[in-house]
Amino acid sequence: MLTAAYEGSAPPNGLVLVPTPIGNLGDITFRAIATLRAADLILCEDTRTTARLLAAHDVHAKVAPLHDHNEDARIPDLLDQLRQGKRIALVSDAGTPLVSDPGFRLVRAALEAGLNVAALPGPNAALTALTLSGLPPHPFLFLGFPPPRGAARRAAFASLRAAERAGLSATLIWYEAPHRAGETLADLLAMFGDRPAVLARELTKHFEQTVRLPLSDLAAKYAETAPRGEVCLLLGPAPQDADDALDLDATLRAALAGASLKQAVADVTAATGLPRKQVYARALALAAEAP
Ligand code: SAM
Repeated sequence: MLTAAYEGSAPPNGLVLVPTPIGNLGDITFRAIATLRAADLILCEDTRTTARLLAAHDVHAKVAPLHDHNEDARIPDLLDQLRQGKRIALVSDAGTPLVSDPGFRLVRAALEAGLNVAALPGPNAALTALTLSGLPPHPFLFLGFPPPRGAARRAAFASLRAAERAGLSATLIWYEAPHRAGETLADLLAMFGDRPAVLARELTKHFEQTVRLPLSDLAAKYAETAPRGEVCLLLGPAPQDADDALDLDATLRAALAGASLKQAVADVTAATGLPRKQVYARALALAAEAP
């Protein structure tokens, strides 16, 4: 039931981005429910997941899937419907649409066509984890999911570490699949050195847990046993003396484990800022030692 204070405020027109709970079904706003009830069409990732949410809130609007594979193809028809004055709501399976979820291309196309786009505020795992983490809340940098493959992931971390060496100082936030958390934490440690880190798990749910530890301890904790459920990983800003904290051999060993010698040298040179010649010589020595 909507409160008297809310009644009378009409849901936005056009395309409306509607956040949904990230675990706790109570985390949906009055305005989100009113917007979904008023929608002519609700776009969602998985119609079965969204059907459960809609049934719980007595929403009977038409539902259609929008995901990475059909988004481009659906845009012309959706823009036509918006031009005809239809109200279209976009939800994802959980949290805020577009944040590591589909919808960006549709929003861009609607804006370019001069159509009305509105976004409701609501649940989001990255911001919930950030505010709970005990790490400096700003500046922060949200990076979505790291690349799933080791070599690409280490290259991405090396670029970020190079940005830190050039002056970036921000709390870093990633989404990650639980079965990859252990290897990602090991790569973070190799590329960034030890610093405060947080793994936020199952936020807003029954088994919610926020583990705040030095990165080395966090990586050790999840080296063998994957965390259960959904996780966010956070890293505190670069410390002033971060260069000293990086162990060249450990960084190189981690890089060599999943990439060619050439790629590993490029990543570690970028991450550490050390002369390429020095990194290359050390990489050759370590590669020769390897069984
Ligand atoms: N759009 C969503 C949002 O606004 O948070 C994120 C969608 S993304 C596909 C899913 C990822 O978000 C998960 O793999 C996990 O990293 C993170 N996530 C979602 N729900 C979470 C939760 N309850 N606790 C911790 N992390 C969560």
